[in-house]
Amino acid sequence: MSVQSFYRVIDRKERTYKTPVPYEKRPVEERTTDFDEVICGFNVETAMAEAARCIQCPDPQPCLLNCPAGNDIPEALWLTSQGDFVGAAQVFAQTSPLPEVCGRVCPMLCQRGCVLGKYNGAVTIGKIEAFVANKAREAGVLAINPPAQKTGKKVAVVGSGPAGITVAQELVMKGHEITVFEAWPKAGGVLVYGIPNFKLNKYVVQEKIKDLEKAGVTFITNTRIGDKITIDDLLKEYDAVFLGTGASIEAKMDIPGEDLDGIYTSTDYLVRANVPTEMLPPEKQQKYNIGKRVAVIGGGDTAVDCARSSIRLGAEEVTIVYRRTEAEMPGNKVERGVCVEEGTKINYLQAPVEYIGDENGHVKAMKVIKMELGEPDASGRRRPVPIEGSEFIQEVDTVVLAVGYWPDPFLGERTNDLVTHKWGLFLTDEEVGATSKKGVFAAGDNVHGPDLVITAIATAQKAAKHIEAYLNGEFEWPEIKKPERRKR
Ligand code: SF4
Ligand code: SF4
Repeated sequence: MSVQSFYRVIDRKERTYKTPVPYEKRPVEERTTDFDEVICGFNVETAMAEAARCIQCPDPQPCLLNCPAGNDIPEALWLTSQGDFVGAAQVFAQTSPLPEVCGRVCPMLCQRGCVLGKYNGAVTIGKIEAFVANKAREAGVLAINPPAQKTGKKVAVVGSGPAGITVAQELVMKGHEITVFEAWPKAGGVLVYGIPNFKLNKYVVQEKIKDLEKAGVTFITNTRIGDKITIDDLLKEYDAVFLGTGASIEAKMDIPGEDLDGIYTSTDYLVRANVPTEMLPPEKQQKYNIGKRVAVIGGGDTAVDCARSSIRLGAEEVTIVYRRTEAEMPGNKVERGVCVEEGTKINYLQAPVEYIGDENGHVKAMKVIKMELGEPDASGRRRPVPIEGSEFIQEVDTVVLAVGYWPDPFLGERTNDLVTHKWGLFLTDEEVGATSKKGVFAAGDNVHGPDLVITAIATAQKAAKHIEAYLNGEFEWPEIKKPERRKR
């Protein structure tokens, strides 16, 4: 055993029983009056102390196995515990292009695997990741340095969210010329227009975009591909196209009254609440007047974001209405706890069945039915079953729907040979990211449906690797066929 390895494990037993070191959050009464970030995180001393709790498990480390990007967490924690924050950030950056983002918004899949969870609590890896990435940003060492020798190959990236950023970074580092197209006025996709500022400051994303621009990536905003410029147009000019367009079209519930005024979709609601006016197109710049009582329908992270935004917009009574129980609720448990701490009430086992309007066509109440859990459905979660005769009226001034998302069908509909399947998802060979159209790759939420930022990054990394092989003539295009419907 080397001297360094010896020091890493010398007091393992003692460290196993150390209690977690808390990180700072702004107090509720302060943070609910603005849209600034809530988590202040660790400082130099607390980051080092918390990272030093890691007992440096032998290979294979369960934290690392749980991280979709495969970040070398034990190494990063060791460096953090020694005060080498820049070194730690560089370890995260080796496998993830966005450690400053993931440290803020990832539901810490790694921590679920941490062996210390069985003792006094998992190491708070995500917040350490954010802390060291901030330190590296301050030190100016997160620059992307592409090779001086260019390949002359050109790649178009459609969408500038986590998947698009990942592919742009990986391929500019190979010496290719990258152009990213974004439909919104600013680059960043869901990181800017979906995730609220109180979780991820827009500044953090804009700094990343600047890094990419300095590395030579071109961003063309306010441009929706499929409209005036089609994918076939791009294929004439570029050697490959990557689609990282996410999943931003909202599901509706198809119940009476859903088109009343005062009922909003979550994407529109979050954009108007959170995004500074100068980053919005003119038609989205007007703020909503939400009244005192807001009901958010749904149970995932977006529902939680909408509820927390409502509190910041001045609502006095905010309720999340969810049709299952907390055990089946998707999303980040910590964020949900923060949301409740800020004053949101969660009504489990309930669902609206009708919205009721006033004489002006504005929602004033909803008829809600109580549920009980039945047998598991296709997702493996127990199916909510309405309880007959349990309906009651809940008065509301605003309703926000956060019940599901799918990709914009626009691109699939307008592009020959680009096969989509359920809910408009692009059909791909997910191991390589190839779509049914030669030269076009896709990854992220537009392939697997709404998921985590780190999942989009991990799948985009696979696609980038195979785009590189394709550009080098080392990739055989797989046959992508729509699965035949099973006969009953
Ligand atoms: Fe953990 Fe997520 Fe960071 Fe991976 S990306 S180390 S799972 S917080
Ligand atoms: Fe450290 Fe926990 Fe990973 Fe073990 S599982 S190496 S204790 S972070």
